[in-house]
Amino acid sequence: MAVPISQAWTVATYVLKQKLKGRKRYPLVLMLEPLFRCNLACAGCGKIQYPAHILKTDLTPEDCFRAVEECGTPMVSIPGGEPLLHPRMPEIVAGLVARRKYVYMCTNALLLKEKLHLFTPSKYLSFSVHVDGQREHHDLSVCREGGYDIAMEGVRAAVAAGFRVTTNTTLFDGADPNSVRAHFDEMMAAGVESMMVSPGYTYEKAPDQNHFLGKARSRRLFRAILSNRKKNWEFNTHPLFSEYLMGKRNFECTPWGMPTYSIFGWQKPCYLLQDGYADTFQELLDSVEWEKYGAKSGNPKCANCMVHSGHEASAVDYNFSSLKGFWVTAKKYIFPSLYEDADAQKLLNEWPKTQRGPLVQIAAPVVDAKEEAAELQGVSRE
Ligand code: SF4
Repeated sequence: MAVPISQAWTVATYVLKQKLKGRKRYPLVLMLEPLFRCNLACAGCGKIQYPAHILKTDLTPEDCFRAVEECGTPMVSIPGGEPLLHPRMPEIVAGLVARRKYVYMCTNALLLKEKLHLFTPSKYLSFSVHVDGQREHHDLSVCREGGYDIAMEGVRAAVAAGFRVTTNTTLFDGADPNSVRAHFDEMMAAGVESMMVSPGYTYEKAPDQNHFLGKARSRRLFRAILSNRKKNWEFNTHPLFSEYLMGKRNFECTPWGMPTYSIFGWQKPCYLLQDGYADTFQELLDSVEWEKYGAKSGNPKCANCMVHSGHEASAVDYNFSSLKGFWVTAKKYIFPSLYEDADAQKLLNEWPKTQRGPLVQIAAPVVDAKEEAAELQGVSRE
């Protein structure tokens, strides 16, 4: 199993309680951003383009604990910035673990090996290491030669020390599905517990605007990557979210499912957009005009978005919204599918080898409306 049974049980009982309380909008994972500074400047990242005084500011451990208690999620993801640059990160993680929160501390792992001794292995703590693919692809993606080797040293050290280690991989246009599948083999061989893969978001502030995926291309790419799986591949994403990426089902975004808290407060409406901030989690829920977001809304900022922070909570909610949803999901866990698909194999075999050039800002991506409409036909939420 990709997560410990205790974690799956905690999440399932939490969601059921929200359903029994009749909460229409409930948070599932807190995206806690205690800092924005980073020791990388990835071309596809929209998080580090702040002025120096903002990059120097950190949330205190007390700020973090207050946010966690306010929204009450069973899981906390700590992105950034690079969390290992926060001087009090071990204290923050220890405090969250003491509160029995399942913590995914996202890291590029450049400092993981040297800071490992500051943390204690626990079923509540996973290092979610950012690895964007095989060596060459990862180094290009994070704009740092040698980044892959340092990250993998950190991964191996953490696995050897008994920590839970997962990986997160963000894919952009030009990704080679055969290489991504080889990357999965490498990660499993390195001893990671499970992997997460998601398309990148079209950040307006990201330096490279030319390699973001449109939805139709995302579905094609993920169908090639995630069909015909190897038995030993473990993913820590909900199986129905994985099917959403492969174009087998459709979900509307539920941005409140993974709310973001940072030095600015509660970010409206989601991890990716910044349409203002709320002082409290309740104010966030009450003040955002949620109908203005998601693919159906026609909001151009949401048109190409398929990211996990917007759509995985939708899959989990569907799971617990009906007997059918429950049964469909239960089957996926009891009888995991390898998604055998001859057409996807053909797609993979014929995928052209792409050469990605330097990551520079060129132009905003163009959405092909016809391609998008054709792709969406026949895809329905079960
Ligand atoms: S579709 Fe994407 S950008 Fe739009 S609200 Fe959802 S997560 Fe945010």
